[in-house]
Amino acid sequence: MKDQILHALVCDGQAAMLMINASETVKEAKSLLGLSAGVTNAMGRLICAGALLAQRNKNESEKLTLIINGQGAAGKLLVTADNSGCVKACADEPKAALPSEEISIPALVGKNGQLTVVRDNPLGKEPYVGMCNLVSGDITRDFAAYLVTSEQQPAAVALDCDTVNDKLICGGIMVMPLPGCSNEALDLIDKKISAMNDLLAKLDYHLSLEEMALDSFWDVGVKPLETVDLRYYCDCSRDRFEQALISLGREELLSLAYEEEDTEICCRFCNKKYVFDSEQLKNLAKGLK
Ligand SMILES: [Zn+2]
Repeated sequence: MKDQILHALVCDGQAAMLMINASETVKEAKSLLGLSAGVTNAMGRLICAGALLAQRNKNESEKLTLIINGQGAAGKLLVTADNSGCVKACADEPKAALPSEEISIPALVGKNGQLTVVRDNPLGKEPYVGMCNLVSGDITRDFAAYLVTSEQQPAAVALDCDTVNDKLICGGIMVMPLPGCSNEALDLIDKKISAMNDLLAKLDYHLSLEEMALDSFWDVGVKPLETVDLRYYCDCSRDRFEQALISLGREELLSLAYEEEDTEICCRFCNKKYVFDSEQLKNLAKGLK
């Protein structure tokens, strides 16, 4: 199944549903960042959460960053997404693993910390920052708690990522009641999402998200709307790293230029390396006072 995000209405238009398949995107993140199996599963859930939340952004140029920092073995995990379906991610400890064979997302993520969401301000002012204390470290419940406490947007959420029959599968569902949604519809949605323990099997089995939505929600009335393609995309460039070096200031640049023959900078979102030799650094410093 292609990596996509599906927008749909359920319960005869009483709630908005987003469904995501992120399997290929997470595979790409795993290979670019060298993630361990456990960190892959945690990052997969966070990628889904970030990509789903970014669908609520108004403009394609607005970026949304989701950071989970629970003091677990994986350290801080970060995902940046926009509403065109581009996501990128990074982890403090990409290779973190637990001593036992069992992969536990809460143990890797930890729950002593916060889930933070940073949104670009379209007016170019200070970004909007929302924050919520972690409730479980499993990312799914933390994300749902964030939506209620920080965005006043209750939602039934299911996120999962795991290797099933040697295949990495990752996806999620988020259902948000619309104004006027009845209590009966709310109950139905909760029951549906709580019973979604075969989410990964469904993603593996169906040809498209639309087909999966119709199959899983036919009995509560479902209307698929548009789909958005999802992909891992890092927008780093030599020019951006030049700007970052310039922001260090003249003295720092010159000391780098004299200390090292080559200064290598590695992008933390895609591991691409950019090398600046001492002459290039001196040239950058020339323009600065
Ligand atoms: Zn990059």
